[in-house]
Order: sequence, then C-alpha cells, then structure tokens
Amino acid sequence: MNDIYKNEILNDIKDIEDIYIAGHVNPDGDAVASVFSLALYFETLGKRPHVLLECVPKRFDFMYGGEFFIALDEIDVKTAPDVFFAVDCGDRQRLGKAAEVFDNAKLTYCIDHHRTNVGFADKNVINADASSASEIVFELLKGFGYEPEKNIKIATDIYSGIVFDTGGFRHNCTGRRTHEIAGMLVEGGVDTSFIQSKVLFEHTLPQARLFGKALANMQHKDGVTYTTLTLDEMSECGCTSQDLDGIVDFILNLDVSECAVLVTQRSENSAKASVRSKKFPIADIVVSLGGGGHALAAGVTLDGSAAEVCDRIVSLITDGLKNG
Ligand code: 5GP
Ligand code: MN
Repeated sequence: MNDIYKNEILNDIKDIEDIYIAGHVNPDGDAVASVFSLALYFETLGKRPHVLLECVPKRFDFMYGGEFFIALDEIDVKTAPDVFFAVDCGDRQRLGKAAEVFDNAKLTYCIDHHRTNVGFADKNVINADASSASEIVFELLKGFGYEPEKNIKIATDIYSGIVFDTGGFRHNCTGRRTHEIAGMLVEGGVDTSFIQSKVLFEHTLPQARLFGKALANMQHKDGVTYTTLTLDEMSECGCTSQDLDGIVDFILNLDVSECAVLVTQRSENSAKASVRSKKFPIADIVVSLGGGGHALAAGVTLDGSAAEVCDRIVSLITDGLKNG
C-alpha cells in the first residue's frame, strides 16, 4: 500500500498549499485522531491543512492538531479545494455537510478501513484489514519517511485513534501489524497510560448518570441486549449524543449478550442505532437498512422513535441469530 500511494500522494500535493481533510459526522476517537495526524504531517511539509469536522468532542481535546479544526456549521460549502482527503468515512454521506466541499474538489482521496466502502473518491486507500483509519494514516506517513520519535504529537494522535477503534487492542480488528505499529509509537515516546485512560476510561458525571438511565431501560431477548435513550432522557442528564461512548460496549460484554443495540433519538422522528456483536456478523443487516460499519460494529440512522427503530433492528437481529 505504501509504495503505490507514497509517490502518488506526495506528487499530487506537491504544488498545493491548502489541503482539506474531513472525518465522519459524529466524530469518534479514530476520526479525530486520523484527520489531525494527517493535518499535522502535511503542516511539516509546509502546507496549510484545514480539518472539517462536525465538532471535536471534549474528551478528545487532548489530541494535537485542534488548530486546524473548522466546524461544519462554519464552512463555506462553495469552497472548491485543489485536494480533499475524506478519512474514516465508509461513504460520501458520512461527511455530512463537508460532502458538498468534497464534490467541489479537483482531486479527492479516501483513506478508510470500512469493508462496506466502495471507493467513492478519485483515489482510494482502503484497507478493511486495518484496525483503524489511524493505522492506515501511520502506514502512509511511514511511507513518506515519518518517524514517531521525531514528532510526538502525530504519534500521540495515531496511538489514540488505534486505542479507540480497537477498544484497547481487544476488538478482532486488532492484528499483528496493529501491535507492531503500537510498538513503534511506544518507542517514539507516547504516554500509553495517559492515552488509554483518556480514550477508554474517563467519563464525566453526566455521562455516568446517562449510563444509569441506559442500564435502567435495558432489555434482553434471545441473545440480544438492547436499550434506548430519548432526547429528554439525554438532556435530563445534561448529555448529548456525544456522551454515549461505552454504553453499547458495556451491554455487549454481558455474558448473555451475543449482540447489543443502543438506539438514541436524534430528532422528533429519527433515531440512531449502534449495533455490536461478539461473533454473528451484523453488518449485512445494518447495510440493508442503509447504514454501514464493520462486521461486528455498525450503525444506522432511521426514521421513527427510538423505541420503534430499536424494535425493528432487534427483530431483524434475533431472526438472523435464529437462522444463522
Ligand atoms: P457507532 O455505532 O459507534 O456510531 O458506529 C459503529 C461503526 O459503524 C463505525 O465504524 C461507524 O463509522 C459506522 N457507522 C455508524 N453509523 C453509520 C451510518 O449511519 N452509516 C454508515 N455508513 N456507517 C455508520
Ligand atoms: Mn474508524
């Protein structure tokens, strides 16, 4: 992968100063880390990176590269970049409002690790075997000559993204190469315990209250553990949709769970489902509903109340478990 794209990317951006980079809506730890690390590297080449993200969730504000961040609400959708990198996005829609800027770009790249990605950019660096977009960014930068000890900010971001998407090197997307890359980043000096605490374990008081609510609403049926949260429930706890980390993973880890579903209301008539599985591949079901993701971790937003969306998905999964 490195060799094919090493020369190509560097050649493509040779005469370009302003580089646009965007991650997916509802940015998670891998999305923030991968776009910021790429931006920090382009800055070392004398470029001006612009990072388009819906937001930088507070818990990821320890990551480096925040100076490049532009909120989607503030972007001029008429911007026509010379080059645009879509990172950690399984499809164009995942860019949200940044998709319009993507459409205007002269040259588009997609850097991603979702198996459902069909390669929606002009040039696509997709590796579904990589643990995270951050891991692919590392491979690219290494191909460009990057060495972790020479830039600890980039190393910290990449390590954070990998820790996030692998759940601390636990998910099945974690490969030998993931550990090798982590080893190189550790050798480069990243503070592993600080990053692990920040990315995986630190929660706010409102989040803990929301966790309680999600567990109180939890139900279980035929191997599927599921729960819902309404907008009112989230706001009663002082939370938003940025505060949901850890909930669906916790209910998946229950001994009775083969699959887990968390559905959260997003507007009057739409709800977002986060689906997780220990073994049974749920991506096909989620993709058939218009969503995407990975075999064991996928998501989709559907019309309806949280309860309706949850019923619909849970019955598809219980049917799938019975037939599979
Ligand atoms: P989560 O449930 O944590 O939001 O997402 C789990 C995985 O599914 C992530 O890899 C995420 O990128 C993907 N995903 C979540 N929601 C959607 C969606 O609406 N569309 C697509 N294509 N992928 C999604
Ligand atoms: Mn990712």
